[in-house]
Amino acid sequence: MEYKMTSRIFRIHGNFCTSHPWEVIVATLTLTACMMTVDYQYQAPPPKPTVRSCGDCIEEAEYHAADLITMTLIRSLAILFGYYQFNRLRKLDNKYILGITGLFTVFSSFIFTSAAINLLGIRVSELKDAIFFFLLLIDLPKAVMLARLALNASNQEEVKTNIARGMSVVGPTLTLDAIVETLVIGVGTLSGVHRLEKLSYFACISVLVNYVIFMTFYPACLSLILEYFQLSRTANSYARRGSALIARILKEEDHRFNPVVQRVKVIMTAGLMMVHVHSRWSLRDYENRTPNVIEDHIAFNGTEEATAVHGQIMKWMALGADQIVILILLLALIIKFVFFEDKQELTEQLLTTEIVERRTEMPKKDSRRRIHRSFSLISTNSSSSGQASSGDDEDKDSNKVDKEIQTDCFPEISDVESSSPEDDRMGETCRSIEECLSIYNDTDLGASFLRDEEVIMLVDNKHIPAYQLEKAVEDAERGVGIRRRILGSQAKVTKALINLPYKNYNYEQVMGACCENVIGYLPIPVGYAGPLILDSKEFYVPMATTEGCLVASTNRGCRALMKCGVTSSVVGDGMTRGPVVRFPSIKKASEAMKWMQTPANFEVMKKNFDSTSRFARLDKILVKIAGRYLFIRFVARTGDAMGMNMISKGTEISLKGVQEIFPEMEILSLSGNFCTDKKPAAVNWIEGRGKSVVCEAVVPAKVVSSILKTNVHTLVDVNNSKNMIGSAMAGSIGGFNAHAANIVTAVFIATGQDPAQNVSSSNCMTLMEPWGSDGEDLYISCTMPSIEIGTIGGGTVLQAQGACLDMLGVKGANVEKPGENASQLARIVCATVLAGELSLMSALAAGHLVKSHLRHNRSRTVLPTEISPQLLLPPCIDNNI
Ligand code: ADP
Repeated sequence: MEYKMTSRIFRIHGNFCTSHPWEVIVATLTLTACMMTVDYQYQAPPPKPTVRSCGDCIEEAEYHAADLITMTLIRSLAILFGYYQFNRLRKLDNKYILGITGLFTVFSSFIFTSAAINLLGIRVSELKDAIFFFLLLIDLPKAVMLARLALNASNQEEVKTNIARGMSVVGPTLTLDAIVETLVIGVGTLSGVHRLEKLSYFACISVLVNYVIFMTFYPACLSLILEYFQLSRTANSYARRGSALIARILKEEDHRFNPVVQRVKVIMTAGLMMVHVHSRWSLRDYENRTPNVIEDHIAFNGTEEATAVHGQIMKWMALGADQIVILILLLALIIKFVFFEDKQELTEQLLTTEIVERRTEMPKKDSRRRIHRSFSLISTNSSSSGQASSGDDEDKDSNKVDKEIQTDCFPEISDVESSSPEDDRMGETCRSIEECLSIYNDTDLGASFLRDEEVIMLVDNKHIPAYQLEKAVEDAERGVGIRRRILGSQAKVTKALINLPYKNYNYEQVMGACCENVIGYLPIPVGYAGPLILDSKEFYVPMATTEGCLVASTNRGCRALMKCGVTSSVVGDGMTRGPVVRFPSIKKASEAMKWMQTPANFEVMKKNFDSTSRFARLDKILVKIAGRYLFIRFVARTGDAMGMNMISKGTEISLKGVQEIFPEMEILSLSGNFCTDKKPAAVNWIEGRGKSVVCEAVVPAKVVSSILKTNVHTLVDVNNSKNMIGSAMAGSIGGFNAHAANIVTAVFIATGQDPAQNVSSSNCMTLMEPWGSDGEDLYISCTMPSIEIGTIGGGTVLQAQGACLDMLGVKGANVEKPGENASQLARIVCATVLAGELSLMSALAAGHLVKSHLRHNRSRTVLPTEISPQLLLPPCIDNNI
């Protein structure tokens, strides 16, 4: 709660800095100028001229030597650390980020230096230590993070928002860190050791200046630079990665925020505050006394020249050694960078330049080609085939250049996929595989910092499994895009993939849940039928289908049911799993069967089963014997989930319990087809599976004639002949309906159900009777014993499918009454089936079917106008019946 509030404050602050960059920059600069020019009250007393003894001289020289060794170590460490940070930034491969953070560092050092000079009254010669401390304490990753966020924006407003968002995430942590660091280092200023005190002052000021600059000057500068140069809109690699990367960066930072650590820091701060207050109070007394003590201490008696000279030499040597070590280190790093690392970069740059030059030639070729085409078009009538062929040659020519450029990086990337402007990164070359691997394996970087071609290279060389691309590049859409390029070139299907969309889809919900090896998504048209009046409530039912007529027909059914409405009843609820187990003999098998059928033992099985989930509740088991095999059908309620995962888990644990009593029982398969899932089976029709629902309606005679264009007598007659006798003749199981599967599947696809479960879910018996005293009204009912459905889990989590569930008011889990949403959806499916049955049966009775299909179902693209619809009658008939 407090964290949210503080982060909001930092967000507002970030917004202010980015919206008023000039004001912030000018204020910072003015403050710096003031600090530089302020006449500081306290002036350190000039060192007293002292006469020292030779012994003291040597001691002092030794003290200096130890001091300088420590300082040399700290300086070397700082340089190495700075070099490491710089090198890591270089790997980011973005000169803007490097430039911006570099600028930040230089400017902050400058500010710090000037402030330190004036505030501490330090000699300029001592400032070198301050800068080293600065190098050690500066938080470059945070600066880089903000720069990355800013560069990810596509317009100036977004730059501001992104920076403000970044500030809101890192602000609280950074503030607390700055306070803790200052207080911890501040303890050093109380040590009484002069040198340590001075260094601690350096470090404290370094932390504070760094913090102030990061919170004010830096975001203002970032915003201004990006606005001025419009960097975010230029072709930098970050801008392309979009919101996914922003989300990742923010998430990473958010993950780093550990409330426990923060609390510890706050406690530490309080403790340290107390230490400081206490020490500084008592120090005042001490300080009042110290001058004399110190003077006493440094009172020197007499001189011995020879020893003094010796001391001077030692001092000089120590000083010289310090500088020599630092110098050697710096030289080594510079040589390493210039002669070894830069060489490779230089080669890369040369290569890139060469490629870019070749690429820049292309527009010329392209424009020549266009001009050429224009000329060809103008002279089309007098068409010279020579011109045409020369045009083709030009095409080939430029294609060749394209191909050559591509093969520099990735020999088989197809030009079709990479021809989209966003993916077009052909002007860049790949780094070596070793370099790519080191970036990929770096926990702070990873494959998201590699170019597509480099990722493909790692996939080709089996360093990244192709199925894990999304995870590797930490950007699902980018991963899918890369997989398409790989597939495109391997299976030579690139052109085909153009029409399979993949952008702007929430793959996060798909990954690890709904689909693997993703290469895109299928847009399926979604229509609606309704209002459907069901149990006195209105529903607009989404249906995803490519079958023309289906939605229109169902809609007509809904219209016919408007007046009377549909009544529903859920008569059964139980998802099933039917494992197969084997015993050594039929004796043992029947013994186990009896054991399971005993109510007390069932309770044991139920207890084990129910322990696996908050929602799965075992209601009964159906045991069947076949020789020495047992088929045990576990029937359980699964709340709002369709429940296959849930019930499998329960079944497994429950069986393990049975196995403890019958150790000779062999569990052959957790699914022994006695479930029965996604296969036609009488057991589901007879016993039910999922939700068992019945719906009924009494349609007035007037509606039958006005909307359905038929009469009750004909309808009932057709229903008996077709859905009863016809299905019996066909030996159907559960198929006593006209087209329940049509509606079930369309609603299943729209609402994220498993479409394969339409097999059992479409089991339906449609009954019709004349109704009322004169028998002129129509009674219709649909009985669907096995609707396998859920509103949570599986495809229901996907955004579009979730929207369809939302349309029906059954999205997700029903918190008050678990299972109620899934049951409601089952009722809707059954009632919609009833509407569909009513409409189609009426069309058949009235002989309208073919006509309506011709109007709605035949695509214009395959129905040339000159062909008479009459000629097309036969193929249409099979559609819905
Ligand atoms: P399925 O079993 O249909 O494949 P899952 O088991 O994958 O579905 O998803 C159901 C998950 O949703 C379970 O982890 C379950 O604990 C959780 N859940 C939350 N609320 C409900 C609810 N009301 N009904 C059923 N499951 C729920």
